[in-house]
Amino acid sequence: MIRIFPDIEFNAQCPIDAAELHIKDVVIPGMRCLADSICPICNTRYYVDLPVGHALWFPTTLNQSTAEIYTQFGVNWFSQRLRESFLEPVEVEPIPIIHKFFDADRIIILNCLDFLYGHSLLKLLNVQYYLDNHPELGCCVLAPTQLLHLVPKGVAEIWEFPISIKEGWKWYLSLQNWMSKQFTNYKECFLSPTYPHPSNQAYDLTRFVRDLPNILDDIEPHRPVILFSYREDRPWGNTLKKQQYNLQKLYNQLSTIFPALVFVLIGFGQQAKIHAAGARLIDLRTDKFCVECDRLWLAYMSAADCAVGVHGSNMLLPSGLARSTVELVPRLRVGNTVQDFLFPWKMKDVRDALLFYRMIYGNNNLSDIDPVKVTDLIVNVLSYSAYNVIIFGEGTSNELRERIRILRESEIYKCALNVDRLNIRDLSFSRRLINYLIKIIQKF
Ligand SMILES: [Zn+2]
Repeated sequence: MIRIFPDIEFNAQCPIDAAELHIKDVVIPGMRCLADSICPICNTRYYVDLPVGHALWFPTTLNQSTAEIYTQFGVNWFSQRLRESFLEPVEVEPIPIIHKFFDADRIIILNCLDFLYGHSLLKLLNVQYYLDNHPELGCCVLAPTQLLHLVPKGVAEIWEFPISIKEGWKWYLSLQNWMSKQFTNYKECFLSPTYPHPSNQAYDLTRFVRDLPNILDDIEPHRPVILFSYREDRPWGNTLKKQQYNLQKLYNQLSTIFPALVFVLIGFGQQAKIHAAGARLIDLRTDKFCVECDRLWLAYMSAADCAVGVHGSNMLLPSGLARSTVELVPRLRVGNTVQDFLFPWKMKDVRDALLFYRMIYGNNNLSDIDPVKVTDLIVNVLSYSAYNVIIFGEGTSNELRERIRILRESEIYKCALNVDRLNIRDLSFSRRLINYLIKIIQKF
């Protein structure tokens, strides 16, 4: 973490003459955390990215006189945003709304503002580290309104910035002034690096996702629960019409294989209409964010046996909460593979990740991914992965018992008990496996 008040522990060099810059102040006008600096040799004033969020990897320096950008990395989506925001500062905007839970003299600030939902959410997951490892510091979370309900209990203050997430890249003079005054209310302020992609050793999603509505009456006795995380800006197929066709086919096939299934649709946009001719269909899609909708989505994600969807930030919470994930990855997004997955708290065995997180790689618009392929993978994850969990168990007998306990609660076990009712193709092999599996489970 970086100490920013009363002293600033940060060093930077002038990009022109390499002299050590004199750091005058820390300014936080939005998603950027910047050192306001001056060069003692050439007298140029700069804003220098502090090592926070994506600036850990792509730090950028901005010349305050010319708005020239200095960066070694050419990551335009990040560097140029600083310039654009600096050139058009927002003069009149709201200031943060303080939600205070307890007093703290020494604080750690987590800036979770960003212009992408996924980035903001991933930054928020850093909070747990300070709650668990630095109880001497009060956590102060600067977050957009949309993430307020996901801030875990135990923080000292939430500074709710009432803007939509996509506006988070802008330079808010009101926020800059508010933050500078805010520092002086404390004896000591630190800034968290808010790693953009924290490991699952660092967060337990149940600390962030809580107070969910009870949906059991809506899904019982239907199983499995298969949730599709829908989006229209990156559809599965050339067009939204093609996406509708693919979704309908997927739903129809899964209904045949799992007649007792619940197929849940979440996400933004409602253009694809699914004809509910088979298994139970619950359509929770909407056009606009609301906290109640989000809580309902989170409840279904938590109940889902498999979350399915196209790669992107829409898959973060579904992948972290559902028991398994099947993702369609467009060729253009292969470089971002796995960045949109959250994993269970301290998942230990790497094989479990490979069993329960599956990706299907397609062309740029996923037009070459047939719903049959997706169906096969979902069926495989639901019917074979838990079996493999057991045969992969090579630790202590306690660990094996724990694996069996998890299996007893899993979909495979329930499917196995009703194996004759399932309409899985090529069942001869899986039936033998399942009968064998039941015998093993019953021994424990
Ligand atoms: Zn200089």
